[in-house]
Amino acid sequence: GRGGRGRAMAAARRGGAGGARGRGRAAGAAGAGGSGAGRAVPPAWPGRAEAPAGGPAAKPKRISLLGSTGSIGTQTLDICREYPGEFEVVALAAGSNVELLAEQAREFRPQLVALQDASRAPELAEALSGMGRDAPEIMTGEEGAVAVAAHPACDAAVTGIVGCAGLRPTVAAIEAGKDICLANKETLIAGGPTVLPLAKKHGVHILPADSEHSAIFQCIQGLPEGGMRRIILTASGGAFRDLPVEKLPTVTVADALKHPNWSMGQKITVDSATLMNKGLEVIEAHYLFGADYDDIDIVIHPQSIIHSMVETQDSSVIAQLGWPDMRLPILYTMSWPERLPTSEETWPRLDFVKMGDLTFREPDRAKYPSMDVAYASGRAGGTMTGVMSAANEQAVEMFLQEKIGYLDIVKVVSATCDKHRADLVLTPSLDDIVQTDLWAREHVKEIAGQSSPVIST
Ligand code: NAD
Ligand code: MG
Repeated sequence: GRGGRGRAMAAARRGGAGGARGRGRAAGAAGAGGSGAGRAVPPAWPGRAEAPAGGPAAKPKRISLLGSTGSIGTQTLDICREYPGEFEVVALAAGSNVELLAEQAREFRPQLVALQDASRAPELAEALSGMGRDAPEIMTGEEGAVAVAAHPACDAAVTGIVGCAGLRPTVAAIEAGKDICLANKETLIAGGPTVLPLAKKHGVHILPADSEHSAIFQCIQGLPEGGMRRIILTASGGAFRDLPVEKLPTVTVADALKHPNWSMGQKITVDSATLMNKGLEVIEAHYLFGADYDDIDIVIHPQSIIHSMVETQDSSVIAQLGWPDMRLPILYTMSWPERLPTSEETWPRLDFVKMGDLTFREPDRAKYPSMDVAYASGRAGGTMTGVMSAANEQAVEMFLQEKIGYLDIVKVVSATCDKHRADLVLTPSLDDIVQTDLWAREHVKEIAGQSSPVIST
């Protein structure tokens, strides 16, 4: 059939050996196995939902929130505000936004707040002094974020920190037996090989908040073991999806920050423009659901209504649909395995007539060279995905500071991955991951600082 041929061709184009094997391969969720270096790490847990034994969980569920002042963080608090009987906020961590963190503390009355920027702690204490005996404890630095994530009073930690800074707090939360509502994708991309076995060991559920992974997770509820054949990740195409490739050399930071469908933090918005966000999500899907890279495809879907799809072994395709609104995937990480009734005023129903057309196209590899870099990193496995992610974080930061051009982002990331090949560690420790992360950032600064041919102007 056409679908099978298209898929085999897509796999062949990616350089995957899988293309020739064609249809009928067993792969995907629930440990059906597979081949390739990138398949070494088993998924965190069966992937499909098995409701925890012992009946419904106690209410309210107690939540600690990392990155409370960011896009994910503030939306998580919107949900907690709307469902006071369901969720209680026990600890908050943020970077440096003292004003907003203080306001959140006054509203949600957590037991602990953490500020990454220690120099602003006195200001925070001052802002919270009016709370008297109800004022939360204040901690700073990574230690603070770790204490929030593993807070003794919380049942689950929502990880809305951006970047590799989320890794250690997430590990601490897992070691303390907390379920993880995972928004911070960089954690799993860098730390998958250590984080997943750890989650397994501690019986911790990793519940994905990224809209695509939430969609896949929702689609596989009730799917039998080995029932999944392929994951189809949808991508909006980002800020430049309708821009001809010849125009890309002169795009500005402001242009890259204009996302057509989603309002998100700056880093992920730039990653959407380069499609690196989707590449990161391919790796995230591989780790979360145990799918081979040959069995994960990307399709551009400009309307962002279908948040991703799962193809089953018998050729059925299951999709999850909704308005582009992160609150639903965040809510589901917190309510799973339950479905909370939502207000139609604040959570408008999907209206198919209003929605109109849903369209799809193949991603243009010339326009989005990050795709090949991401698949290659994923297949290399081990420390390579963390190196790619860290190099990308550094490169995006330098782009946002106008130190490098838009097209340089993927060039320096690719050059950094190439350089790392000789030092690749296939089963890294947490320290290996942190070290290679630091190395990748330094390497990007070095090659981006040279007036080498890598950098265009
Ligand atoms: P953001 O920049 O809006 O917010 C980041 C938050 O983390 C802020 O509160 C900031 O203060 C805090 N922070 C940063 N460094 C910190 C540190 N070292 N210690 C403590 N706090 C720190 O980012 P965002 O868009 O909310 O994204 C957060 C994560 O969620 C990212 O990993 C992103 O990839 C992922 N994600 C976001 C969306 C979205 O819609 N925003 C969608 C999918 C996935
Ligand atoms: Mg996403």
